Amino acid sequence: MTEVELIAWCEELGESNFRGKQLFEWMYRQGSMSFEKMTNISKTFRSYLISNCIVRTLSIEKSLTSNLDQSVKFLFRTEDDHFIESVSMIDGNRHTICISSQIGCALDCSFCETGKMGLNRNLSTGEIVDQLLFIKELISKPITNVVFMGMGEPFHNYDNVINACNIFHSPFGCNLSASRITISTAGMLPQIKKFIKEKNKYKLAISLNASTDLIRNKIMPINKKWSIEELINAGKQFSKLKNRQVMFEYVLLKGINDSIDDAYSLSNLLKGISCKLNIIPYNETGSEFQRTEIKKIEAFTKILYDNRDEYRILIRWSKGQDIAAGCGQLATQKL
Ligand code: SAH
Repeated sequence: MTEVELIAWCEELGESNFRGKQLFEWMYRQGSMSFEKMTNISKTFRSYLISNCIVRTLSIEKSLTSNLDQSVKFLFRTEDDHFIESVSMIDGNRHTICISSQIGCALDCSFCETGKMGLNRNLSTGEIVDQLLFIKELISKPITNVVFMGMGEPFHNYDNVINACNIFHSPFGCNLSASRITISTAGMLPQIKKFIKEKNKYKLAISLNASTDLIRNKIMPINKKWSIEELINAGKQFSKLKNRQVMFEYVLLKGINDSIDDAYSLSNLLKGISCKLNIIPYNETGSEFQRTEIKKIEAFTKILYDNRDEYRILIRWSKGQDIAAGCGQLATQKL
């Protein structure tokens, strides 16, 4: 529950609204999983909470630590026995967690492991937040960044994802700066527009992955609904808001979207937009898709760099390659 929901719920039970605030702080600021320990709450209310409520929504099924870097991948079990995954990645002072928003995904992007699962259901706000609380408990390094780049399409579960972001951001909750919370979408245009209209402070990333509709239609069926042009325009609108800058993600797939022509047409698409471009070498998953050779990745990136206008460009090397830390890999193995 969010702070507003907790306050309303406490009032319904005849408790003061202050109780709602206390519960919010205990759970999300202190990460307390035990009602017993919430000592500033009256004994009667505590025993009501113990008999009627839960804090923890997930249990840990498995964790894998990478031998290549410090990343740890977690496989969580939901109360109805489904599996979701999250990854913790440490890089110097930065501790980024990559979390899931759905069990499976409906969008069926052809290169993505989660897409193969189909959609089971949305995660609740609690299940989204619990991924962070679990990692906070298990890994001592303070979490500095959250990215919604695990399983699922966050904008397909808009309200719960925004509620979770608000809990992460609240100074009485996890106290993370809004600019350290990134929502990545495959391009759900109505929700992107809503996100812009609401002037949300969280970062927006759009998975472009192709520079022509012909190619994008083939690898991301969602493109048949909302085209590249519409996404680029929406990204531009977002970057026009004060202190916001859209990020475009581009997963490089060998022989599909990695040609020299693709690089030029991508740089043309991004002309005049203040944005960040993340080139993501494909994390091979045993599917028909392959990673582009490193020389070609460099040549592709160089064209974009040489032709850059208002964008910054970064190659994002996946962490945890030896522990199947790419989107959906562990949960699909479990299935
Ligand atoms: N549904 C959202 C968030 C989840 S995927 C979205 O599409 O943005 C997060 C990112 O991982 C997306 O940019 C997606 O294109 C990329 N991705 C999926 N599978 C991948 C793989 N095997 N290797 C590299 N990137 C992958």
